[in-house]
Amino acid sequence: MIRRLFAIALALAANASAATLYEGARLIVGDGSAAIENSAFIVDNNRFTAVGRKGQIQAAAGAVRVDLTGKTVMPALIDAHTHLGWAVINTGRIDKDTYSRDNLIDHLRRLAYYGVAATFNMGTDPNDVAYDIRANPVPGAALLRTAGRGMGMPNAGPGQAYWRPVAYGITTDADTRKAVDELAAKKADIVKIWVDDRNGTVQKVPPALYRAAIDEAHKHGLRAVAHIYYLEDAKELLRSGIDGFMHLVRDRDVDSEFMQLWKQHPNVFVTPNLPDKGTSEADFALMSETVPAAEVKRLRDAEAAQTAAEKKTARDFFDVQARNLAKFNAAGVRIAFGTDSSRTVGWDVHQELADMVLAGMTPMQVITAATKTSAEVMKLDQLGTIAKGKSADFIVLDANPLENIMNTRRISKVFVRGAEIDRAALRASWTK
Ligand SMILES: [Zn+2]
Repeated sequence: MIRRLFAIALALAANASAATLYEGARLIVGDGSAAIENSAFIVDNNRFTAVGRKGQIQAAAGAVRVDLTGKTVMPALIDAHTHLGWAVINTGRIDKDTYSRDNLIDHLRRLAYYGVAATFNMGTDPNDVAYDIRANPVPGAALLRTAGRGMGMPNAGPGQAYWRPVAYGITTDADTRKAVDELAAKKADIVKIWVDDRNGTVQKVPPALYRAAIDEAHKHGLRAVAHIYYLEDAKELLRSGIDGFMHLVRDRDVDSEFMQLWKQHPNVFVTPNLPDKGTSEADFALMSETVPAAEVKRLRDAEAAQTAAEKKTARDFFDVQARNLAKFNAAGVRIAFGTDSSRTVGWDVHQELADMVLAGMTPMQVITAATKTSAEVMKLDQLGTIAKGKSADFIVLDANPLENIMNTRRISKVFVRGAEIDRAALRASWTK
């Protein structure tokens, strides 16, 4: 009996450490290079240890072999702009009392389900829960990075009333620097500043204060990023040393002066998070995998209740941002990937990928933005590409997204930090 248990233990140990050789897939590396047709790669100890063509990569004796002929493999996605932890997905409820550790973990699992390996909460984490989850990654869930509490004028930062008390309200050079010092002490991953008057309804952070925030952040070796709306603010932020924009310019088409300014600051990045222009049948189908039918119906009814004028306003708002994204793309601006999601968690990553293609980027450019570039922006060296030494975070697709970006939704398997996500079990638990 003892000997038999010992044999089983040995077999389990061997299995746990055995390398796996995946062969035959079309492989999208994530760095914009041409896909490797008929690829082979090895995952060992949750890392890629070899990547190349089938036949060129040999696995050690005892390696598990997985045939992926006909499939496409791409790096797991990275969403560099979210506001997770607040929404109760089953009911759609979100309010000043709904932020919780359970919600945040649930959302990170939903991201993993849809192929996302890491996400960046942008200034709406009210307490230390996000820092704690960052330090202790949840198995089977996306990694979390956080801007902690962002900053704006008092009660005038984030767009939603329930988030406004979370932000630091800054009014002087001294309290701006104090807020940044607190974030640095907590080792926030970035400093977030809202620069927006919300269509004239609130006070906007003046240049003197955002310059203080940027300066203090840089003294701590932190980067500062801005939520923007207006072209003129974006120009002044570029002149002031901002490191990234968490939105596109939204009030008008960008001009040549702005593009010239950006050329002088080539490391500045942007997460486009294009606005909602309506939810398609394909989107509802994707959402239905993880959202209960009653909640999907509520969202469908809300969509159907929109007037033609409301739809046109949304479409115009999308179009100006799409034109600006196309200009950035043509100019070689550093485009990362973000959804700005709080309530639409996971599925809308794929909506955003499709929207960026609609704006004129190629599927390869969009995938690179959502993998390599976003990993760089989040300083996640282990993620973003499928290459030797990187963490084994990848998606197996049933169809080629380079031919049609809608194929990122045809997910066969997701692996996060080497482990396969049990998508069927998650789906069942969320939709029961
Ligand atoms: Zn945001």
